[in-house]
Amino acid sequence: MAKYWNEEIECMSREDMTALQNEKLVKQVRHVWDNVPYYKKLMKEKGVTPDDIKSIDDLHKLPFLKKDDLRECYPYGLLAVPLKDCVRIQSTSGTTGKRVVAFYTQHDVDLWEDCCARAITAAGGTSEDVCQVAYGYGLFTGGAGLHGGSHKVGCLTLPMSSGNTERQIQFMRDLGSTILCCTPSYAAYIGETLKEMGLTPDDINLKAGIFGAEPWTEEMRQEIEKSLGLKAYDIFGLTETSGPGVAFECCEQNGMHINEDHFIAEIIDPDTGEVLPEGTKGELVFTSLDKEAFPLLRYRTRDICVLSKGKCSCGRTLIKMTKPMGRSDDMLIIKGVNVFPSQIETVLLKDFNATPNYQIVVDRVGNSDTFEIKVELTEDMHTDTIKSIELLEKKLSADIKQILGIKAKITLCEPKSIPRSEGKAVRVIDKRKVYNN
Ligand code: AMP
Ligand code: ZN
Repeated sequence: MAKYWNEEIECMSREDMTALQNEKLVKQVRHVWDNVPYYKKLMKEKGVTPDDIKSIDDLHKLPFLKKDDLRECYPYGLLAVPLKDCVRIQSTSGTTGKRVVAFYTQHDVDLWEDCCARAITAAGGTSEDVCQVAYGYGLFTGGAGLHGGSHKVGCLTLPMSSGNTERQIQFMRDLGSTILCCTPSYAAYIGETLKEMGLTPDDINLKAGIFGAEPWTEEMRQEIEKSLGLKAYDIFGLTETSGPGVAFECCEQNGMHINEDHFIAEIIDPDTGEVLPEGTKGELVFTSLDKEAFPLLRYRTRDICVLSKGKCSCGRTLIKMTKPMGRSDDMLIIKGVNVFPSQIETVLLKDFNATPNYQIVVDRVGNSDTFEIKVELTEDMHTDTIKSIELLEKKLSADIKQILGIKAKITLCEPKSIPRSEGKAVRVIDKRKVYNN
């Protein structure tokens, strides 16, 4: 059984990898300078030209790109090739105002699918496997990425998308799926449903799961492994850099190998922007080395993690990143969806005419996220009829669902019941354990 999808790259010596990255970086910086006026302007403001970038040692001279830049450039401002050369767009799970739209040429799609093929192979996948893709299909990158990777590896691909869990299990049994790809929370839910249907892992044939797109703990890994009878592998990525597959776990199940021939990773201090030495915890920054349509240089992911070099017991030499330990911005990932508290404020403002006191409470019960919004009634609302309060609750609930695409439990509280703060308001209480490591 092939252990690697691309042994030459995945097990390349450090010198060879550095030489490859140097060569690609020089070309990529020139490509961006020539084709992306927005980034050229940022480079000029920093006093850098492509001539200053001779190797990866010069990377720190380049300006950062942030999510705000992406929003400002929406939709075409960072596109580096003519639109007629693009074959695909994908988008983040945010809503209109916050959406990031990424473009792909056929070369970019191939590159991305190749990264996912490496992840599937590292999880033991071959052309003998039946790969059930239960990530959402559509603008979200999960379905498309793993689907493409599964095709490359030659697995029999089941493009299930997410949802309809009993049917997922039915297909899993009928077709003998051996690999499951979905978010870890959905994997856990499938595990629960299996049990509720009176079945056990012996009734299905799964051997591996490729789970990512949201934070998850080691405890959750163990639970999923037990409930579905498989080995659970982590996979990482973001729309801005392609999608899942930027980094993937190997048999060691201890950190994810970054596909360094396509992406250079740096760790910076989120407050000062200073590059931190290997082994230090900080914000992950990615430079894409050979994407054509959407080639982001020094993109700040906001994800906090640690990088480590050195040969892994799997034989790969690709640098590893730990599971993200949190984010340096206020974005929450609830049920796999990116949620910014400001989006909730916008809804409250609309429904109340003024932003009321509110608090967002996120927790994890079993393996699913719970999402509650506590909203304080004003004194005059408090005396309103129960019926009008119920109507308000319904309206809030519908508006939140429309904006975020997920449901929140709305709890209307008595006036003055939400604690006031003398400093920054504590708008978010995230009780999930994931970010405490
Ligand atoms: P999106 O572009 O909408 O898919 O969101 C990307 C974000 O999802 C990343 O910046 C991370 O915060 C999060 N993410 C993706 N994969 C993982 C993972 N394996 N573990 C933890 N967080 C993840
Ligand atoms: Zn490894």
